[in-house]
Amino acid sequence: MRYISTRGQAPVLSFGEAMLTGLARDGGLYVPEAIPVMSADEIAALAGLPYEEVAFRVMRPFTGDTFSEEELRRAIAAAYAGFGHAARAPLVQLGPGHFLCELFHGPTLAFKDFAMQLIGQLFQIALGREGRRITIVGATSGDTGSAAIEAFRGLPSVDVFILFPHGRVSDVQRRQMTTPVEANVHALALDGDFDDCQARLKDMFNDFAFRDAVGLAGVNSINWARVLAQVVYYFTAAVSLGAPLRQVDFTVPTGNFGDIFAGYIARQMGLPIGRLVVATNQNDILHRCLTTGRYETDGVRPSISPSMDIQVSSNFERALFHAYGGDGAAVAQLMDELKSTGGFTVSQGALQLLRETFASGRCSEEQTSETIAATLAETGELLCPHSAVGVFVANAHIRAEAPMVTLATAHPAKFPDAVQAATGIRPALPARMADMMDRPERVTRVPNDLAALEALVLERRAL
Ligand SMILES: *Cc1c(COP(=O)(O)O)cnc(C)c1O
Repeated sequence: MRYISTRGQAPVLSFGEAMLTGLARDGGLYVPEAIPVMSADEIAALAGLPYEEVAFRVMRPFTGDTFSEEELRRAIAAAYAGFGHAARAPLVQLGPGHFLCELFHGPTLAFKDFAMQLIGQLFQIALGREGRRITIVGATSGDTGSAAIEAFRGLPSVDVFILFPHGRVSDVQRRQMTTPVEANVHALALDGDFDDCQARLKDMFNDFAFRDAVGLAGVNSINWARVLAQVVYYFTAAVSLGAPLRQVDFTVPTGNFGDIFAGYIARQMGLPIGRLVVATNQNDILHRCLTTGRYETDGVRPSISPSMDIQVSSNFERALFHAYGGDGAAVAQLMDELKSTGGFTVSQGALQLLRETFASGRCSEEQTSETIAATLAETGELLCPHSAVGVFVANAHIRAEAPMVTLATAHPAKFPDAVQAATGIRPALPARMADMMDRPERVTRVPNDLAALEALVLERRAL
């Protein structure tokens, strides 16, 4: 399996190279050259298997010869062993035809653990084999950073630096990044918003001298291996609800489009997903784009679902690449236009293709709070604000023909203020992490400035 860039100008890589590289050198994102298809029989055979076995069967065709079967199985087993639920991604029913897939039983209580825990294991195997050392730099609106730190803390061949927007992540999210004691963990609070963090991260990747000097690697949601790990729970959820004999729809609380793009891959692989519904909060660039065809930035408005507070949605580029029939030059042109003018218009043909798979909806701040309260009253399920955005939008998209699965992306205890404001109940952290609020924090405040950031990484990383 070979991986190509969405902008058509970067070297073609193997799975292992694409995983260790992250962002392509032409500024694009790596995608598989072709998407392997699973037959209806192969999908049906997944019913009742442990999550780990489904993960192996779904991911194996994508990993090429980077890992032996035994290595991949070992990585998967280690990745999910620390989860607090034996099913890993259990389904609960919210109402007739509406199910919630709980993706928050990992060590940092958000779905990003599914990908990050696996990537930690895969990086360790690949680097250890070559005796290589790398520097991981990530940007986070909250959940990616803690998940990355949790996955890479203490690994001998990796330094991990995480940029998060100062003052814009929840206490629990911040403490998950600032309390690990391992010397290879560096939490950086940047003076700016998440898009600034993401922009500086991209700048570092585009500074090839720096990139090569520190062995820079990315684990943001642009990393193909992360998208791949997230494809698995679409299979486990859909198969438990009757796939391949029945269609299943999904609603996904969306920010950078990584999670929902994994659903798109599952659909391309042959899983009978009817519609993939993009649920946005008030930062609704994707909903506006799918509605009007115009992709236009208009600043970030901080919300009570902060992990979805983005104005540019990086992984959307992958969907555009497919909608433009794999035309890297066309995608590069759209991205140039975005950079110089702050927006672009999707062609009619591409928009039509996107709409065949994706529907969308937006949820305001008030609607988010009301959904948390209403869902608790009607079902007893306490939602985090991101998951509430999903449930609200899903409710408007439920069809008689197909069950709807809403992805619950974080545990309510990760966002206790918003949950308490909506319901009067302050959700408790699971017992295994209850002491986190008392541990000392370690964090460096940094300016929104590329040269200063690069100097800090060069100085701090172990040689
Ligand atoms: C990251 C995140 C999202 C958005 O996921 P994307 O893959 O960026 O679209 C939604 N909810 C939570 C809790 C998250 O951490």
